[in-house]
Amino acid sequence: MQFENKVVLVTGSGSGIGEATVLHFAKEGADVVIVDYNEGNARKVAEKVKEFGKRVLVIKTDVSKDVEARTAIEKTINEFGRLDVLVNNAGIAREGLLIDGTIMNHFDEVLSVNLRGAVLMTSLATPYLIKSKGAVVNTSSIVTKSLNSLRGFPCYGIAKAGLDHFTREAAYELAPSGVRVNAVSPGPVNTNMAINCNLDVDASKIAETTALKKCALPEEVANVIVFLASDKASSVTGSSYALDNGISLM
Ligand code: NAD
Repeated sequence: MQFENKVVLVTGSGSGIGEATVLHFAKEGADVVIVDYNEGNARKVAEKVKEFGKRVLVIKTDVSKDVEARTAIEKTINEFGRLDVLVNNAGIAREGLLIDGTIMNHFDEVLSVNLRGAVLMTSLATPYLIKSKGAVVNTSSIVTKSLNSLRGFPCYGIAKAGLDHFTREAAYELAPSGVRVNAVSPGPVNTNMAINCNLDVDASKIAETTALKKCALPEEVANVIVFLASDKASSVTGSSYALDNGISLM
C-alpha cells in the first residue's frame, strides 16, 4: 500500500492505459482523480475503483482547454486538499502525410492534446506537487525512437518527442523542489488506440512487429507508471522508460 493517504490524478483514465493506472494506484492505497473527456467511460472506471474502498473523483475535462484543465486541478484540491502524483496520459493519434498535405489536417489538435495538455496540467499542478514533493509521469511513446512502432502518424510522434523533452526540462527545473518527472515510452499496447491506428491490420499482426511477438497489456504499462511515481524510483528523474516488447530492436 505504497500510496496510502496519497492523491493521484490520471488524465485519459476513462480507458486503456489510464484506466489500468488508476486501478493500480487505488489498489496501492491512493485516492484517485479520473480526468477524461469521455464522462461515461470515466464513471464506469470510478465504479471499479470503489471496489478497492478508495475515494474517487470524476472530472469531465478536455486537457487541451485552459479553463477545463484549471477546473480539474481546483476541484481536486477542493475535494482532497492535496495532489501527490500527476499522470499525463491523455492522448490521441491521427494520420497525416506530407505527400498529400494531410499532415496539417490534425496537427494543432494532436499537439494540443498530447503535448500542450500535458504541459498545461503540469504547470497548474506544480504548486501542489512542490508542497507534497510529488511526482509526474508522462505517457510518451517509443515512436520517438523507432518509427517501426507507428508509421503514418507524424504529428503524434512530433508531440511525443516534445513530451520527452518537456519531461527532461520539468525534471531539471523541479528537482531542487523534490519533485521527480519521468516518462514511460510504450510500443504497441492492446488498447482502443492501437486498434484504431492499425485499421487495416488485426491485433495479432501488430504483435508480429515486436521482438517478443506480443503487444503489451495496459496493466504492464501501469506497473511502470506506478513504479516511476513511487519512492522505489526515488533516484529516477528525467528518464523515459522504454516498454516496447523490443520493437526498437527490429
Ligand atoms: P485509449 O484511447 O484507450 O485512451 C486514451 C484516453 O484519453 C481515452 O479515455 C480518451 O477519452 C482520453 N482523451 C483523449 N483526448 C483527451 C482530452 N483532450 N482530454 C481528456 N481526455 C482525453 O488509448 P491508450 O492506448 O490507453 O492511450 C493512453 C496513452 O498511451 C496515450 O497518451 C497514447 O498516446 C499512449 N500510447 C499508447 C500506445 C498504444 O499502443 N496503445 C503506445 C504508446 C503510447
